[in-house]
Amino acid sequence: MKKTDWNQYSLETQAVRAGHNRTQEDEHSIPIFATSSYVFGSAEEAALRFSGESPGNIYSRFTNPTVNAFQERLAAMEEGERCLAFSSGMAAIMAVCMGLLKAGDHVVSSRTVFGNTVLLFQNYFAKFGVTTDFVDLTNPAAWEAAIKPNTRFLFLETPSNPLIEIADIQKLAEIAHNHGCLLVVDNVFCTPALQKPLLLGADIIVHSTTKYIDGQGRCVGGAVIASDELIEKYIYPYLRTGGASMSPFNAWVFLSGLETLAIRMKAHCENALELAQWLESQPSVAKVHYPGLASHAQHELAKRQQSGFGGVVSFELQGGKQQAWDLIDATKLLSITANLGDVKTTITHPATTTHSRLSEQERSLAGIRDSLVRISVGLENIDDIKNDINILRAVTGGNL
Ligand SMILES: *Cc1c(COP(=O)(O)O)cnc(C)c1O
Repeated sequence: MKKTDWNQYSLETQAVRAGHNRTQEDEHSIPIFATSSYVFGSAEEAALRFSGESPGNIYSRFTNPTVNAFQERLAAMEEGERCLAFSSGMAAIMAVCMGLLKAGDHVVSSRTVFGNTVLLFQNYFAKFGVTTDFVDLTNPAAWEAAIKPNTRFLFLETPSNPLIEIADIQKLAEIAHNHGCLLVVDNVFCTPALQKPLLLGADIIVHSTTKYIDGQGRCVGGAVIASDELIEKYIYPYLRTGGASMSPFNAWVFLSGLETLAIRMKAHCENALELAQWLESQPSVAKVHYPGLASHAQHELAKRQQSGFGGVVSFELQGGKQQAWDLIDATKLLSITANLGDVKTTITHPATTTHSRLSEQERSLAGIRDSLVRISVGLENIDDIKNDINILRAVTGGNL
């Protein structure tokens, strides 16, 4: 089936069927093509492939049938023309930057993007003469004010980590396009099962497939989805040269991850909403950050833009860092790890882990307090998850 034909099917169907071009062996499941290179029928055929006149594989740094299958499937699910897979989420973001930026360019990014994304702009691209301004994710006027004549793209992550704030993708796409810039959206927290940034006007999506797309915490990977034109002109040449490719084995793991993505996301959302509501009812919890709660500042926007509220909840205790650490240490079931998007519930203290490399001032600007705890809600029974967090009652003498 041609990849364009997948548009007529819904996401659940694309997730289990798209991308598989059956070989002459008639296999039902997508095989792992463990091969670094490919054989040509003749010297002439080799020359035609290298010149691009004849399609077909040359070398697995830039094309591999298993990786191609993953790319086609994710492109269909994001309703994009083309996807390229990378060795990690950061490698995918790096590819967008390397492909699109040159010395003298400018980027506007939300302040609350993934910590390494901030460092990539601040510590590395700055060295090569690309400047970045960081703005408040939720304030479109601030984005517009930060745009300069040399701004190449706006970069955002929505919902953000760890405060789960929501950006208005449609509005920011309009602002970007009015100023001749592109909009790049990191869609890790929602995945295409909950949010389709390209349909809202974004130009490029980046993914860390390490999170919900794998869903079971096994492999590290990333992806970029965009129009044929953007991929062909800016991203593919960089992949071929830069070389941060996804391995066929990882692509095979992510392909099966995609097959269960929609039902997993539904279950993550249900558990997360129930946990957020329960946390909000606890007297010792000062604030719960979850877009599914009516108390969330962008609750209406989240309802409009997303088909579910996601699996990550964060909350602030009334005490400081020690109380947050006590709560985390008192859990028996939850995993103390900074990863997210796993079937296993994970708990972390952002100020001293994922966001510890930010200065105190940067953390304070981003609203990441010492009392903040982040939970990526997994697929265990929700009562078991609640009971495990409840153990703080013992730690604090029954105050939570
Ligand atoms: C994890 C993550 C990344 C980076 O992905 P890796 O696969 O760890 O390189 C980028 N953005 C978000 C939102 C993430 O959660």
